[in-house]
Parts: sequence; C-alpha cells; structure tokens
Amino acid sequence: MSKDPKEGGVCWNCRKPAAAEDNFCRFCGRNLVSFPWYYQHWGIIALTFLALGPFSLVLVWRSPLMSRTARWVYTALAVFITYELVKGCYHTYLVVNDAMNAVLKGQLPAGL
Ligand SMILES: [Zn+2]
Repeated sequence: MSKDPKEGGVCWNCRKPAAAEDNFCRFCGRNLVSFPWYYQHWGIIALTFLALGPFSLVLVWRSPLMSRTARWVYTALAVFITYELVKGCYHTYLVVNDAMNAVLKGQLPAGL
C-alpha cells in the first residue's frame, strides 16, 4: 500500500484510474493532492481522545495517508485501550456497588 495515491494510478477514495497530473479525481471529485485534517495522523489522534474513541478507526481505515502497518498499529492500540477502559469501568462499578450495598445495610464501606 502506497502513501501517495497517484503512485498506484488509482483514486484513494473510489479506486478508479487517476492520471499523475490530476489534482482531483475525474470520477468522485476527491482531492488527490492534499487531504482533509481528519485523515492526518494528528487529526485522527485528536478525534479519538476528544470525541470518537474507538469509532475513529473508520477514519484510520479510510485515510489515504495511512500505511498498512500504521492501520494495524492504530487498530491494535484502539482495541487494547478500549478493553482496558471497559475493564476499569467494570471494576469501578463493582467497587461502588459493594460500597452502596454496605451503606444500605447500615455498614461503612470497606476501607472507610
Ligand atoms: Zn475517486
């Protein structure tokens, strides 16, 4: 997989043929020279942490700027971080649930 959409001679978006001198795709009209900020590495990382979470993987896999290796590294990281966050939330839920049960029974939560 090439970073330069023109090298393969196809549009990064629709995969139809593109000439080396084309600035825009003749079929879908996408820009073949510069790419929107949300397909850049920094844009994807910012969106991941500010808004999208693991859903930003859609951008990773659509971005014409990502190498095959980069896509898999981002995917593995997203899966790992999501798993750790879910595990952390579940652990917190269990601790809070135990504490609430203790309070409802008129006892102080363990550790207080
Ligand atoms: Zn196209």
